[in-house]
Amino acid sequence: MCLLCERYSGGYERWYLNPANYARRLYKIRKGEAEELGAEANPQLAGGMGILGKEFLEAEERGDIETVKRLAQEAEASALGVHFGQVITLDEALKILDIMYPIALMSCACRRSMYGTPDHENFFCIGMGPGMYKWERWPDTYRGGVQYLTPDEAKEVVAKMDKKGLVHTVYTFGTPYLGGLCHCDYPDCAGLRMRLEHGVNIFWKGHCVARVDPELCNGCGQCVVRCQFKALNFSPTRNRAFIDQSQCFGCGLCATECPQDAITLVEKANLPALASAW
Ligand code: SF4
Ligand code: SF4
Ligand code: SF4
Repeated sequence: MCLLCERYSGGYERWYLNPANYARRLYKIRKGEAEELGAEANPQLAGGMGILGKEFLEAEERGDIETVKRLAQEAEASALGVHFGQVITLDEALKILDIMYPIALMSCACRRSMYGTPDHENFFCIGMGPGMYKWERWPDTYRGGVQYLTPDEAKEVVAKMDKKGLVHTVYTFGTPYLGGLCHCDYPDCAGLRMRLEHGVNIFWKGHCVARVDPELCNGCGQCVVRCQFKALNFSPTRNRAFIDQSQCFGCGLCATECPQDAITLVEKANLPALASAW
């Protein structure tokens, strides 16, 4: 069980399946709770690569490991109370769409800032809950505005994102308030880049890891290109895919496209070596 499930699952299987974490009363962060988690920042100011800053990048460049470690820990503590993501599976994303309201498609901030993707081509994020009303009222500030969706329309969008190979992720906006169901890939996503390039963990692994059944795998290799985390490899000698579970983020993208149903997701809680790897 991850820290967030311990604190915020409210008896549900995962913290992000607890409807209370989408409630209006949580929309404004409760300062006391944020401080308990070590966060001082205002959620409205948090997010993106900005959390690292110049000092971190310079320390990294000159190989100052102590400073890098200290700033990374500070960034992680701040993000945890304010704005961080966790990988979820397609099935979990579909369940979430049944428990919160309203649901809206919105423009992806990471891709807009990385590539200047115009908003009308950039609707990768699903915004959730009362925050969407604010987005709607101030489209100049919250660029791109929102397109409201029914739960069924949103499920279709999420299934298409999965088909494309984008990682489903929930994001908090004042933890534990959940406001974003994101669809990310490397190198577009700031959270993914912070984790994979700089080792700063504001983008947690999910609750499962993938496993390949070598008896069912036919060596087609389709799963390898679906993995954003370099956890999947292909052995030409054995003509089989294999997974480095320590690298796996549990997104399930490999499993949803395997034509042989050779990949299953297993709970990390049952694997002592991985149970606390977030
Ligand atoms: S977290 Fe993912 S979907 Fe959300 S803004 Fe960043 S890249 Fe876009
Ligand atoms: S997609 Fe399935 S069948 Fe193809 S290599 Fe991967 S595990 Fe094997
Ligand atoms: S191995 Fe599969 S479940 Fe694990 S990170 Fe890669 S695509 Fe996702």
